[in-house]
Amino acid sequence: MERLKIATVWFGGCAGCHMSFLDLDEFLIDLAGLVDLVYSPIIDCKEYPENVDLCLIEGAICNEDNLELLHKIRARTKVLVSFGDCAVTGNVPAMRNQLGPDNVANVLQCAYIEHAQENPRRPSTAGIVPALLPRVMPVHEVVAVEYFLPGCPPAAANIKAFLTQVLAGTTPQLSGRQIKFG
Ligand code: SF4
Repeated sequence: MERLKIATVWFGGCAGCHMSFLDLDEFLIDLAGLVDLVYSPIIDCKEYPENVDLCLIEGAICNEDNLELLHKIRARTKVLVSFGDCAVTGNVPAMRNQLGPDNVANVLQCAYIEHAQENPRRPSTAGIVPALLPRVMPVHEVVAVEYFLPGCPPAAANIKAFLTQVLAGTTPQLSGRQIKFG
């Protein structure tokens, strides 16, 4: 049987969803025997490859770099999974949307001017970080998503249940507490 090519990506999130992925513990050893991890923050790979079977996407879409990479991922991947509440709903990073149309200016002012301990200056002029989008978006607002794996973070048991079904070639389904709780 051909090994599945699996990727994980980290957009606007705290990495807690990836920590939960690592909490798969010994199941990671089983996975290593069955799939190829071709792109992830936990491996050294700079370019998202072609012909990926499945990608777990952590985090909301917050900046122009996120947007560009997400479109590339969609074009190169068969199955996308919104992985965790930030990807599914926007969750924590989308809180800045509440600040209205000036939210980008307000966030940059707060982070880089008011709370700077030295050299206060805006990253838009210093070129330090990618340009923030005017509104943080969940993944499915930008591209089509095949599956949603909610939770903050999704529990390792739920990730395992999902991946086990994928590896068995069945259509993944989660129910009850698997849907509601991280
Ligand atoms: Fe972190 Fe929760 Fe967002 Fe995952 S869903 S990136 S754990 S805040």
